[in-house]
Amino acid sequence: MAVKPILEVPDPRLREVAKPVTEFDESVIALVEDLRDTLYTTSGIGLCAPQLGDLRQVLVMDLSDDHSDLQVFINPVIHARDVLGMIEESCLSIPDVVERVVRPTEVDVSAVDQFGKPFDTHLSGMSAVCLQHEMDHLAGRLFVDRLSLFRRLLLRATGKIAGAGAPQQAA
Ligand code: ZN
Repeated sequence: MAVKPILEVPDPRLREVAKPVTEFDESVIALVEDLRDTLYTTSGIGLCAPQLGDLRQVLVMDLSDDHSDLQVFINPVIHARDVLGMIEESCLSIPDVVERVVRPTEVDVSAVDQFGKPFDTHLSGMSAVCLQHEMDHLAGRLFVDRLSLFRRLLLRATGKIAGAGAPQQAA
């Protein structure tokens, strides 16, 4: 377990699609520990494997104030979404950008934990938003992709997203 550097835009690895975990071995547990240790050095509430350059479908979240509630989602699949909301998001891979994003704020999700045990859960509010933000990363998407063209052009003009907000291109 170790604190790892977090990739930032415009690193092309942030645009790659992560693969499902099929082998639940020691390397998965070590990856979750790296994600946890790295997340806890930041002010963020979620982090996923691609942000550390590991293209597996693994993400962690902790919305507590004292790092007491680590949640691990591996191979997550959302079955139902409801109630659109607009919540401010930021991203550890896109420093200094905070933007409001419209997303569902209620989701039903199935996933697997780091020991290979499947589970189903319902998330609402910030938890639901954080999960979807991290799942976007697993698909090679960034939250700025969800902004209006106007907002993306504005952010690009300030140099803050260095092309990260360009319309999705085949990679
Ligand atoms: Zn992010």
